[in-house]
Amino acid sequence: MTAARPGAKPMMPLDDALAQLLGHATVLDGIEQVATFDADGRVLAQDLVSQLQVPSQDNSSMDGYALRCADLTDLTQVLPVSQRIPAGSAGTPLAPRTVARIFTGAPIPPGADAVVMQEDCDVLADGSVRIKTQPNAGQWIRCAGEDVMRGAVVLAKGARLTPAELGLAASIGMDVLSVARRPRVALFSTGDELVMPGTVAPQDMPPGAIYNSNRFFLKALLVRLGCEVTDLGIVPDQRQATIDALRDAAEHHDVIVTSGGVSVGEEDHIKPAVQSLGHLDLWQIAIKPGKPFAYGRVANAHFIGLPGNPVSSFVTFLLLVRPFLLKLQGVSEPAVKPIAMAANFNWPRADRRREFLRVRRNAAGGLDLFANQSSGVLTSAVWGDGLVDNPPGGTIAAGDVVRFIPFSELLA
Ligand code: AMP
Ligand code: MG
Repeated sequence: MTAARPGAKPMMPLDDALAQLLGHATVLDGIEQVATFDADGRVLAQDLVSQLQVPSQDNSSMDGYALRCADLTDLTQVLPVSQRIPAGSAGTPLAPRTVARIFTGAPIPPGADAVVMQEDCDVLADGSVRIKTQPNAGQWIRCAGEDVMRGAVVLAKGARLTPAELGLAASIGMDVLSVARRPRVALFSTGDELVMPGTVAPQDMPPGAIYNSNRFFLKALLVRLGCEVTDLGIVPDQRQATIDALRDAAEHHDVIVTSGGVSVGEEDHIKPAVQSLGHLDLWQIAIKPGKPFAYGRVANAHFIGLPGNPVSSFVTFLLLVRPFLLKLQGVSEPAVKPIAMAANFNWPRADRRREFLRVRRNAAGGLDLFANQSSGVLTSAVWGDGLVDNPPGGTIAAGDVVRFIPFSELLA
């Protein structure tokens, strides 16, 4: 295992960092009324209580014939059709020893206690029906209230709305939903080496220059998490410029997110700049990739400083900033549950930090490892479809069961 450098400050376990960070994440004031159509990804600000039961009445789950089972004493019997009930209309009480032609979603007529699907019936020339299989009471009937009971909390405050939730809300008649307001987030990158794509062609890039990749994935991640993002671009590695940028950003935003400049090199100006305006905690979190992370306050805004290395920035965002932003919106369960999966690779070298390895599910149902796990190699996050959460000091042998966290959940 890689040993701690003598005299090095002890690193903070990820769970402690997350608990501290979430402790600062008080839910934002302000509720918005949003059309259910536009509420995907938003967080419900109030319990949603149903004023009705769903389905509102017993109805057919098949196209076929509704009947009273007791009317059918043997299968040679032929029963006349006494009414026709398409979806959207209500039938009348079922006349004795008759069947009702019925369609999927149509209410069961009073007196009927089963539906026979049309494939199990012969329709005779005069339109009457012979039932080919003995029905059981209740068959092919969807019961009133089997989905939602009147008065039930269909969706709880703090639920993050996904397409299925929107459908469920609509099924109880909600066209407008009360949701948490979006966090206003200011984003900027630090680093004099950074060049925005489009401003300098690849063949003209000066020595030492790199394109600003973090800005692109951080903005997209923030938008996915429901934030209103102000992209403030690249701030030069100068104390005063950094102070000015932070002060402006704090005026109109709930959160300031930066990438780079949180290490302790002399070109890292974030720390003194934030300290001059508010306060800053600089954490060395015992994770890999990752490690440097800053949380602080600039006036009334939260300040979050992410590492500059792209994969560190990406992973740290997913592990810490994602739950933080969700909690600001009142999400009750921001954590993602890992899945137990078999590793199809070896990871023989333990690290004292908790590692988040970029892996990908294979056709055999196991996990393959991306060969280069360097914190600068963004290809690993593209090739991979998730992370293996490997505990401190942990080695992995092929066949071991590991904790897998899919990107699909972290990026939702
Ligand atoms: P820093 O945390 O500022 O010391 O940066 C660590 C490493 O990440 C350096 O190699 C930087 O060039 C790189 N880096 C910092 N910011 C970005 C960015 N926005 N996009 C791509 N790489 C970055
Ligand atoms: Mg830098």
